[in-house]
Amino acid sequence: MRFRWIQSVLISLALAAPWAADSAAAISLDGLSEPEVALLKSTLKNLDPLITQRKREGTAPVMTFEELYVPLKSEQAAFLDEIRRLDPAGLGGSSRKLPAPTGQESFVRLDHQTNIKEGRPVRMDSQYLPRPAFEAYQRMMAAIEADLGKRLLVESGYRSPAYQLYLFLFYLPKHGTSIRETNRHVALPGCSEHGSPAFQAIDFITPAGINGEDRPGEFEELQEYGWLQARAREFGFYLSYPSGGPSAFEPWHWHYEDNHRDG
Ligand SMILES: [Zn+2]
Repeated sequence: MRFRWIQSVLISLALAAPWAADSAAAISLDGLSEPEVALLKSTLKNLDPLITQRKREGTAPVMTFEELYVPLKSEQAAFLDEIRRLDPAGLGGSSRKLPAPTGQESFVRLDHQTNIKEGRPVRMDSQYLPRPAFEAYQRMMAAIEADLGKRLLVESGYRSPAYQLYLFLFYLPKHGTSIRETNRHVALPGCSEHGSPAFQAIDFITPAGINGEDRPGEFEELQEYGWLQARAREFGFYLSYPSGGPSAFEPWHWHYEDNHRDG
């Protein structure tokens, strides 16, 4: 009996302890607290050499959570875990969780793409596509080349949820460390079609360098965009963010569905 009484006192003390309440406190969504900002800074600093190396190797888009966590201290890992647990439905906007990679995918690496930037050819970063999306992309490019004599390049293909998490952290300070605001510009890990092979997204860019990031207005004027609207579905590609929808119009962002309707 006495033991039970002591146990229940200990439990109530633990529940009432300020440090217990603190560790259970949710991450601030509209601007990080001062300790959280310090944690974010130290996390980005610890990740920097790893990310630099993976970018140099061209393997950043396929990094795993296990690899991402290697340079982190335990409190930094816990901070990342908390961001991974965020419910996108509670943040407003239209983002939602998408099917995660199964781990069984085979990815095709695309090297040697070049486009023109400021009048000069530049070699693009390596990109990755799950094999079914890659093969559909190739079939579609053969068709657009036959029709228009033009092709589109893959500016951004697969980005693993771990790399997406890094990108989210990287962009947080640029949006006042507000998770809610950052989420309007950068998807949370698990919420991007770029990280969901079942809905694999491709951001297209022309060999002349017309893309979404730098020249969004020009992309929708392209003959290639008109062609995609008319024929992409034959190859299993669909426009994810059409004009007039709940999200901003992205004429360059198309996703592939393996079990598509028309092809
Ligand atoms: Zn995209």
